[in-house]
Amino acid sequence: MSSLNSNIAAVMKQAVEQCKDNKGGENASYIPFLSSVPSELIGLAFVSVTGEVIKIQDADYKYALESISKVLTLALALEESGADAIHTKVGAEPTGLPFNSVMALELHQGMPLTPLVNAGAMATVSMIEATDKEQRWNKILDFQSELTNSKIELSDEVNQSEQTTNEHNRAIAYLLQSSGRMYSEPMEACDVYTRQCSTLINSVELATVGATLANGGVNPLSGKQLIKTENIPHILAEMVMEGLYDTSGDWAYDVGLPGKSGVGGGLLTVIPNVGGIAAFSPRLDPYGNSVRGQQMIKHVARTMGWNLFTSQ
Ligand code: GLU
Repeated sequence: MSSLNSNIAAVMKQAVEQCKDNKGGENASYIPFLSSVPSELIGLAFVSVTGEVIKIQDADYKYALESISKVLTLALALEESGADAIHTKVGAEPTGLPFNSVMALELHQGMPLTPLVNAGAMATVSMIEATDKEQRWNKILDFQSELTNSKIELSDEVNQSEQTTNEHNRAIAYLLQSSGRMYSEPMEACDVYTRQCSTLINSVELATVGATLANGGVNPLSGKQLIKTENIPHILAEMVMEGLYDTSGDWAYDVGLPGKSGVGGGLLTVIPNVGGIAAFSPRLDPYGNSVRGQQMIKHVARTMGWNLFTSQ
């Protein structure tokens, strides 16, 4: 391991030690499966742009990808259609609102504000080119596997738990259709969106996604160019504006790095040209962000001096 990376590993260990006794927050309760995940789990992983992997504590534990899936599907949509075409259909504006807000599609002449909250995410799913729902789903799932360099699978248990409680998202899908912003059959888009949230991932796999975004779109573990380099700034800009729900601004203010959280307890953060760091801990703040995940990444980023907005 390089001396930089052994330094990162030491700081990551310190972060886990410092945060593991924090009992703040609660597991997500609106999806029955998520409330049953052991709350004490805590994991941290880093993958560098050169492909070095550092993992601490429960970094191999698999959890539901949830909202973080929105970043991966956005990347796929950009690959297929190009940034200009996507931007005419989904905006790039922070909502300052909860992830499942209906307002996220009311404020911009019926255009979803961003692909990183549910309204824009379902519209983005519906834009993935496919002849039917299963083909669209398989493309999304295969892309999750490519980006993580691992075989990603759907959890039937999580999916079942979500599909039977997602009335709110189904309503958003119909609202999108009524404003002409849904590009497939709305219930099919909602179904595929719910599935993309219900895949299982561990923190090393999630950090690999971050490392790919930090590395101009080349997955450092497989060496494959998965995302065009020109699309990376669009994805990272969306993450800065909307990655941590209604506290995305606080994250930019405090940490200054693109991030994306999910109600499964995962938090991905990208350090461009350095790597990806992923934290996992199920207890969430009132906005849906992992409490200890934010604390751990904040500690590592500050100690390492990682902040995009810093100048000398
Ligand atoms: N499947 C979840 C939902 O749409 C994802 C929420 C999230 O992680 O923000 O309700």
